[in-house]
Amino acid sequence: MDFDNILGNSRVKKILRLALQKNRLPNSLLFYGPEGVGKRRLALSLAKAVNCERLRDDACGECPTCLAISAGRFPDVQEIRPAGQVIKVEHMREMRQAAYMRPMVGRKRIFIISEADKMNDDSSNTVLKILEEPPLFSHFILVTDNHHLILPTIKSRCQALQFVPVGREEIAGALVEKGCREDRARIISLFVQGNLEEALELNWDEVQSARREGWDLFLSIVKPEKPSLFLRSYGFAQRNLIREDLKKILEIMASFCRDLVLLKEGGDLSLLLNPDYGEDIRALANFRGLEKCWEFLRRVDGAVSGLDKSLNMSLIASAFYSLLGEDTHDRDILSRL
Ligand SMILES: [Zn+2]
Repeated sequence: MDFDNILGNSRVKKILRLALQKNRLPNSLLFYGPEGVGKRRLALSLAKAVNCERLRDDACGECPTCLAISAGRFPDVQEIRPAGQVIKVEHMREMRQAAYMRPMVGRKRIFIISEADKMNDDSSNTVLKILEEPPLFSHFILVTDNHHLILPTIKSRCQALQFVPVGREEIAGALVEKGCREDRARIISLFVQGNLEEALELNWDEVQSARREGWDLFLSIVKPEKPSLFLRSYGFAQRNLIREDLKKILEIMASFCRDLVLLKEGGDLSLLLNPDYGEDIRALANFRGLEKCWEFLRRVDGAVSGLDKSLNMSLIASAFYSLLGEDTHDRDILSRL
């Protein structure tokens, strides 16, 4: 069944299934959450489930309707995507026209607005008008990685469903199923932070080079050098930082730190997140006290949640580093915050 083929987010799937069983699917839905966790895929499955010829609370994936929707040639299911960087108002107007016409062949019309955060003011206002009085036979699924960019007035008219990262075990399992080596699958599952799509596309060399960078940065903090490698790479001087890259590098560093804690506490070595760095991490065991390690992990959490809130990236990176308390530029940085 289609819903079961989508990994993770069982809570969302359960809510949708219940709504379908009770025939009470909201007309306006907002699927939001991080990238690559199956939001768009589930929106498509939902479009199938609503119209499936065999099932009521899932999509069989095999009937002519399900197949036509998968192939993008079912007239009552439409996906609207940005043209370039913007979802154009013309497309929203076309959607409005179609939305008020009865379904042609299916039970309901479904409109999936992908990357809904890319609606400009005109597009948003057009959608808002539709959502104020949605036709009973049409459903709208807005899909976004950046829900804070959607107008509150639109949000308030949608039933919002939050998607969460896919679990590491599930991701590792999916990779092994595709023929990936188990040790690599485990490392990749850690590396992608719940982004299943990325996990399936990643190549191992990229993963390894990012981990090497993370290791060098971690090392430069454990055994401070000046000027700091971390600040040089991610501090004020850097203008072209990518939010996800910084987040990833912080998480990789945290994974080395967690391994260091595990070694210090004499934990089960099979639980190492980076077994291939075991010896290198062991060599650091005397460098940092446990308290410092925990502090490091708390700082990573703080920085990552700052990044999730879209705060200024190089400020976060610099504050993260300076608050670790080992940088001679501390005062200079703190005075700029
Ligand atoms: Zn079907």
